[in-house]
Amino acid sequence: MMETSAGNKMIAVKEIAPLRPVGSSPDMCMGCGTCSAGCPLTGMDGFDPRKIVRMVLLGREEELIQSHLPWICTMCGKCEHACPMGVNIVNMIRTIRGMVERDKVPGMIHKGVELCLSTGNNLGLPAEDFVFIIEDVAGEMAEEPGFEDFKVPMDKKGANLLHTLHNKLVNTQNEDLVHWWKIFHAAKEDFTIPSENWEGVNWGLFSGDDPAMKVVVGRIVEHMDRLEIKNLMYPE
Ligand code: SF4
Ligand code: SF4
Repeated sequence: MMETSAGNKMIAVKEIAPLRPVGSSPDMCMGCGTCSAGCPLTGMDGFDPRKIVRMVLLGREEELIQSHLPWICTMCGKCEHACPMGVNIVNMIRTIRGMVERDKVPGMIHKGVELCLSTGNNLGLPAEDFVFIIEDVAGEMAEEPGFEDFKVPMDKKGANLLHTLHNKLVNTQNEDLVHWWKIFHAAKEDFTIPSENWEGVNWGLFSGDDPAMKVVVGRIVEHMDRLEIKNLMYPE
């Protein structure tokens, strides 16, 4: 909310029309369909980015909020990159998602957000289990020729690189952890992993949950400040 010099209240456009942010208004859409042509998910279960934009233009916002359509998008941004009119399609879809009641968010995504807020990772993995997995996988790697001296430094102050983790690398794809660590070892990279709040996948971004997204980003910022690290490797 802003005030004019005369003291009159001015309501921010974003407050009265959250799907029509200033500077990227869907009113600019000319219906060319370039976004739809570029979207890898056009046609999937009735999804089409031009349809989303047109529904916003027609004031069918409530219908969109109730619909499965905004949840089909991966937020890859190809549509927006291709749009000749600069319509901010990704933000529009994310804003719609944020307007959905949290208990109606489909699939695992909101549950993952809640777990991340309460435990520091989208899996809800206890800290001791996380440390066990990391040490176990690192120990197996150290049995391979050429990696005998390998260890995973956790919470190392002054390291060059903070490595936050994609939860699936900790859960079911441990071999991908090893790929990264072999690259770090060969490059003599001075990296470290946070022992808690290690999640690098911010589902608050995907679910349109701004407060949750801020908390998860803030944790990473806090790691970097506390450990005095300047470089971040973010898995997504
Ligand atoms: S590419 Fe842009 S202008 Fe064309 S239909 Fe999509 S949103 Fe509208
Ligand atoms: S951001 Fe969504 S709508 Fe746009 S191209 Fe990617 S999947 Fe399609």
